[in-house]
Amino acid sequence: MKNDNNLRAVLEQLFSASFEPVVSTSGDNLIVVANGAFVDLVGQEVEELEGKNILELLEKCELLESIQERLEACHQWIQDISLVSRSGAEVTFDLKVNQLPDGERLWIFNSNSKYDRNRDAQFDRLTGLPSQFLFDDRAEQAVITSNRHGKSVAILRMGIDHFNRINEGLGHKHGDEVLKEIAARLKHTIRNSDTVARLGGDQFGFIMAITAIDDSILVAEKVLEAVNQSLQIDDQTVTLTASIGITLYPDDGKDISSLLQRSESAMRHVKSNGGNNFHFFAAEMDHRARMRIELENRLRRALKNQEFVLFYQPKVDIESSRIVGAEALIRWIDPEKGMISPIEFIPVAEESGLIVPIGRWVLEEACRQNRAWHDQGLPQVKVSINMAAPQFRDRNIVEQVREVIEKSGLPEKYIEIEITESMLVGDIETVIEKLNGLRDMGVDIAIDDFGTGYSSLSYLSRFPITTLKIDRAFVHDLESNKNTAEIARAIIALSQGLELEVVAEGAENAAHIEFLKKQGCNTVQGFFYSRPVDAGSFAELLKKGVISAGDAE
Ligand code: C2E
Ligand code: MG
Ligand code: MG
Repeated sequence: MKNDNNLRAVLEQLFSASFEPVVSTSGDNLIVVANGAFVDLVGQEVEELEGKNILELLEKCELLESIQERLEACHQWIQDISLVSRSGAEVTFDLKVNQLPDGERLWIFNSNSKYDRNRDAQFDRLTGLPSQFLFDDRAEQAVITSNRHGKSVAILRMGIDHFNRINEGLGHKHGDEVLKEIAARLKHTIRNSDTVARLGGDQFGFIMAITAIDDSILVAEKVLEAVNQSLQIDDQTVTLTASIGITLYPDDGKDISSLLQRSESAMRHVKSNGGNNFHFFAAEMDHRARMRIELENRLRRALKNQEFVLFYQPKVDIESSRIVGAEALIRWIDPEKGMISPIEFIPVAEESGLIVPIGRWVLEEACRQNRAWHDQGLPQVKVSINMAAPQFRDRNIVEQVREVIEKSGLPEKYIEIEITESMLVGDIETVIEKLNGLRDMGVDIAIDDFGTGYSSLSYLSRFPITTLKIDRAFVHDLESNKNTAEIARAIIALSQGLELEVVAEGAENAAHIEFLKKQGCNTVQGFFYSRPVDAGSFAELLKKGVISAGDAE
């Protein structure tokens, strides 16, 4: 008993001596007692304050409606607020409200610099949203509360699709503007009792108590829609998409770190399926995430140990059956698993950034090899090289290409760079500048897999390109699908109209060749003539010069 009294006396001393404004209120927010710092701050007498609803003094506080729910749920509520001080100035605080066991509430207004440092850790400077630090804390609290109320918690992790394109294309300043705008939209998308935080980079996290899974679907849909609204950067209109991974407590994990990790696996799953969607975590994603990390490590080793080789697939002139060029296609000879297709490892290389050194090696090797064929006196043909988006985004890509070609001693006209339609979006001026840089050097530029991208046709005349490669999907289905035949026909006509070279990929049989010939597409690359072959076999084909169906089998 004596101890209790002692404690109470100490607390009262602390309360009145505190430099921070502190108020205690009843459960319905009526002021019971305010300390001197608070009285000084608002410029009202203690008597005036007593019995007053504290919320009336905090009119600028945006999220006050949520306080009741929050306190019931977690017994603590933290929010940055501003209020008008006695001098009329607006003062900003971090307000911490604690629910005391007897039903009273303690309101602590923090403003000093020590707390500011703490605040920096809790809130993201750029967007003002809670940081990962506070997010983790709130997630813990949500889990504890849900245990008590038998509810579930949904954790959503959202990443903006291809955000690096914005940063690299428009600069970091604009990138920051975009993040701020998105953060503001997200804040409006969620209920007051939910949390949205910035988890770093272009990733945001959401915490919400849910009664049914549908609740989280609804939020995910709303978030996607909010991100999807176009936004204006300088005079450009940009439309973004996002990918969301969802985990549920307690089904998907018992602790926050595994829930967060799994929400990331689910988000990656969405991204690798084209983005602009959400997905719930599924157990096999853990497995896939592990495989992906393993593949990334093996790729790194492959680069160091020179386990890559280039194969070459001839491009053939239909009329004369002469080889007029080749596409360089990478293969990975893994010491344990044998030959691995680029389809399996290029996407991982792109995501991890490893495609940049790999792509540079491809460029060097293709130039070196083509020069060697020239030196051997073989017919001189152009070699096409696939360039991935992260490579092309590099500010110095033109310089790099120039440097590599110069070092190889190969005349520039014997190189063609293949890019895809998706690389022509973003900062159009910079894209055009880079393409012009390559063209000025004498390098040709092809649009690969043409017809599968989403760009509008109007861009074609704006970019200095030389070749369209019809995607093999259109050639493959020519016989069975009238529509694809029409598309192939239209692409050929379009190239002729724009005076571009046109190459059909994936011609596999005589009927394909017949159709393409009839439509006036004279250059073909496909299994009908030859699969991609190693450099030695390609030299043999070049020596003969002409190729007939299945020569390389
Ligand atoms: P791509 O650039 O469109 O290359 C053409 C692909 O179609 C090659 O697959 C080729 O083997 C295949 N192909 C050619 N003719 C036929 C045919 O008649 N029938 C069928 N079914 N397929 C045919 P590959 O070599 O497996 O390469 C797949 C993709 O991997 C390439 O598609 C390209 O996007 C990427 N890739 C390959 N090498 C590189 C590289 O060095 N760098 C980058 N960034 N990507 C590469
Ligand atoms: Mg290609
Ligand atoms: Mg292609």
